[in-house]
Amino acid sequence: MKYDVIIIGAGASGLMAAIAAGRKGSSVLVIEHKDKAGKKILATGNGKCNYTNLLQEDHCYRCDNSLFPQKVLRLFDTDNTIEFFKKLGIYPKEKNGYLYPNSEQSASVVQVLLMECRRLGVKFNYNEKIIKFVKPNFTLITDQGTYYGKNLILATGGCASSKLGSDGSGYDYAKFFGHSIIKPLPALVQLKSSDKYRKTISGVRVVGNIKAYGNDKVIGEETGEMVFTDYGISGIPIMQISRFVAKALDKKNKVKLIIDFLMDKRKNEVIDILKYRITYGKGKSVEEMMVGLFNNKLSYVMILKSNIDPTMICDKLKAKDLEKLADNIKEFTMIIIDTNSFDKAQVTAGGVSTLEINEKTMESKITKGLYLSGELVDVDGTCGGYNLQWAWSSGYVAGTSAGAL
Ligand SMILES: Cc1cc2nc3c(=O)[nH]c(=O)nc-3n(C[C@H](O)[C@H](O)[C@H](O)COP(=O)(O)OP(=O)(O)OC[C@H]3O[C@@H](n4cnc5c(N)ncnc54)[C@H](O)[C@@H]3O)c2cc1C
Repeated sequence: MKYDVIIIGAGASGLMAAIAAGRKGSSVLVIEHKDKAGKKILATGNGKCNYTNLLQEDHCYRCDNSLFPQKVLRLFDTDNTIEFFKKLGIYPKEKNGYLYPNSEQSASVVQVLLMECRRLGVKFNYNEKIIKFVKPNFTLITDQGTYYGKNLILATGGCASSKLGSDGSGYDYAKFFGHSIIKPLPALVQLKSSDKYRKTISGVRVVGNIKAYGNDKVIGEETGEMVFTDYGISGIPIMQISRFVAKALDKKNKVKLIIDFLMDKRKNEVIDILKYRITYGKGKSVEEMMVGLFNNKLSYVMILKSNIDPTMICDKLKAKDLEKLADNIKEFTMIIIDTNSFDKAQVTAGGVSTLEINEKTMESKITKGLYLSGELVDVDGTCGGYNLQWAWSSGYVAGTSAGAL
């Protein structure tokens, strides 16, 4: 069977590419190895699909070739995305710039994409495994047949959450066509710590400022609510800095987090707060004196990390003890030894090098007629709808270019 465009992967970028190519009048075949399309879309935004964000800034997209993402995003931006989905039926609901379908069902997003594909006559083959590609051009041999594509779009995703379909096989296909791969690492992922007190504070949620250091250099900074866990630390700010931590750990850097739990106070002000509490808490133990300032478990660990006996009467604290306690409030240190695995990660950092891709078309600079889109490419976004926006934009550009007859 011959097609103008063959797309591997029926995820966000593959579906968008199929529509864009179909709208150009091309015959389109989508090959998906899972039993249905858009499995990952269904899991997004806790089942509500945060499909884009009104706030678009350069730092929301990360790539070794830092200017690349914006060049592509400009060709199909947030406004285009909102309009595109509105026309398909997705009425947007906005929360602090984050956009969701008003139905609050990610299934609606998959449904409207598939309805549009059906209208355009896009053909879908599910549960189909690729055996090999044959050069020149794009002959595809699968476990169910042989197909010939004038153009080929690889939209197989990265290797995060492989149970949803993206198992990293796309990297081998890209390599087969001559591409180099920037080492894929888990991103938007929780961090593992060797801190001996991590289990004591497991379950504590707290707001703070987090600075991540790789070999004593700041590699990331975020503020927000974090959650301590049995293995280390989680929460949105942790996920946001995780890709920098993953890269630093991969380079064998020593990584630590320094957390400030009283961001609006300087160290001397924190010491004044402690002195005040001691003045009005005479006779209390150090642990009791801290009650009401932070979660009790966290205070307990701060006291232990300061080498203070929590049962000691607080009046006996010396100036150097207050210094240490203030340090553990302003500069609570956690050594990070790893990230959680790809299975727990929301996205992949790394992928096909963007230096080898034309930013106007998403066409390979190495193999004519080959296009690459979505998470397979070395672009990852922060939390907040940016990864889907990248999938929509790059999928649209790839589909429009590959589908131009
Ligand atoms: C739990 C979770 C929540 C998320 N929430 C959000 C969110 O709210 N907002 C946001 O912007 N981003 C979110 N993301 C990230 C976002 O979903 C992805 O970045 C995006 O879906 C990537 O799109 P893609 O098309 O590139 O890849 P994918 O969506 O992974 O699709 C790739 C497709 O290719 C198929 N495939 C892979 N290999 C082959 C092969 N060899 N042969 C045939 N088919 C193949 C896969 O089965 C899959 O269907 C979330 C991710 C996860 C895991």
